[in-house]
Amino acid sequence: MGAVFFTSGAFPGSAFLLKSSSLLMKKYVFGFVFVFVLCCLSLSAQQKTKNLVIVTLDGMRWQEVFGGIDASLLKDSRFTHDSSGTARDFWNDTLSIRRKKLFPFLWSVVAKEGQLYGNRWKDNKMNVTNPYQFSYPGYNEIFTGYPDVAINSNDKIRNPNTSVLAYLNQQEGFAGKVAAFSTWDVFPYILNTWSSGVYVNADVDTLRFPDANLKLVNDMQFLTTRPIGVRPDLLTYMAAREYMKDYHPRVLYIAFDETDDFAHGGMYDQYLKSAHAEDGMLADLWKYIQSDPRYKNNTTLIITCDHGRGDQLKETWRDHGQKIPESGQIWMAAIGPDTLPLGELKTPGQVYQQQLAATFAALLGFHFTAEHPVGKPIPTIYSK
Ligand SMILES: [Zn+2]
Repeated sequence: MGAVFFTSGAFPGSAFLLKSSSLLMKKYVFGFVFVFVLCCLSLSAQQKTKNLVIVTLDGMRWQEVFGGIDASLLKDSRFTHDSSGTARDFWNDTLSIRRKKLFPFLWSVVAKEGQLYGNRWKDNKMNVTNPYQFSYPGYNEIFTGYPDVAINSNDKIRNPNTSVLAYLNQQEGFAGKVAAFSTWDVFPYILNTWSSGVYVNADVDTLRFPDANLKLVNDMQFLTTRPIGVRPDLLTYMAAREYMKDYHPRVLYIAFDETDDFAHGGMYDQYLKSAHAEDGMLADLWKYIQSDPRYKNNTTLIITCDHGRGDQLKETWRDHGQKIPESGQIWMAAIGPDTLPLGELKTPGQVYQQQLAATFAALLGFHFTAEHPVGKPIPTIYSK
């Protein structure tokens, strides 16, 4: 794969330094360290982003994000039970209207004020680097910047790799201010809550907070039906939003799950309804962010997914993994005070999932390093 790793030893000019005399070497090393420190300081000083919110839609295809509802899946009664109702909700002959019907927030707000990556019909590509193309390897790649080949299952195994959330939780002003709310119950392991100290509330983990709204969400999560075997995404969202209002985390991660589960179940109409509802939650979240003086104009929102799914062979839309060719194709949206309003990227380009961790850190003025290689940040997102 065309992946590029950024390691601390890979500075340009390092070969020259080795050949120099020791005096010259000291001079160059000093000069280099000076410039490097200046760069770090200026990166930090330039960033308007003081808070970061990350949201993932599990296994949400770029094909629907950029193209709206798929006509052949809509007509296929194996996957769409109520085709006339689904068409009424989401179909339009014009692509730009069709995708906006499914994702009104992405196409009315983010497309105007932020950036959207991954429209392969415009040759703008985003891919995972890990070879597996399913959830745990994908989330590991997003948060550690390292497509570790040893992460090869969705089993509840504590992630040995340091995540950018763990790294940020160590930074001044961020300790105890990094939190995650997920529908899927593997996230405490992926983010290794035990070693990272990051608060991870997953599935029906009891919400032990005195706030009345959080108590209500807690009651609801134990009383609801569980159509996908875990709490509904809406309750994950409400828990995250109310936590945000009360505790003002500086880095918040919300992990939705329904799209992947309904897709595996072959329920295309439900997959779309969940995607549409999650877009509504993103709109609600952005509205809240811009209404709270602590978050207004200093918060960046990043939206992405862990993997793609099949497309060419239509029935493979349900699945993903090494045997389904399009599974490594993903997308991303970003909006915030350091993100230029480039809208949908329509020019040829390629970014990778492994670049996200360093991008999250760069938005907040940090240079993420870990005990493993970390993908380079994506400058177009954090440098306005
Ligand atoms: Zn899946």
